[in-house]
Amino acid sequence: MYAIGVNVANSLQQNNKYKCNEENCGKCFNQRTDLNDHKQRVHCDEKPFVCHFNDCHKSFKTKANLRRHVVVGHRQSMCNNTHRTVMLL
Ligand SMILES: [Zn+2]
Ligand SMILES: [Zn+2]
Repeated sequence: MYAIGVNVANSLQQNNKYKCNEENCGKCFNQRTDLNDHKQRVHCDEKPFVCHFNDCHKSFKTKANLRRHVVVGHRQSMCNNTHRTVMLL
């Protein structure tokens, strides 16, 4: 953390900069990625991350879940940047 003269008591309120704008929620998060992650988990039923192995086509809410599936289910690892799969031999 950066020390810029904010005392600890005040920083509690300033910690949560990113607020979920869904109705009946209003949860606050420290980081935008946390907010996005929360939205994806809680408010979104879509599963945009699809396994591309033949005869699989399982879909997942998060890339992390897809990656875990790929590793566990197919014994492959997935490249972070290209989404290419690599043999784990
Ligand atoms: Zn929310
Ligand atoms: Zn799969």
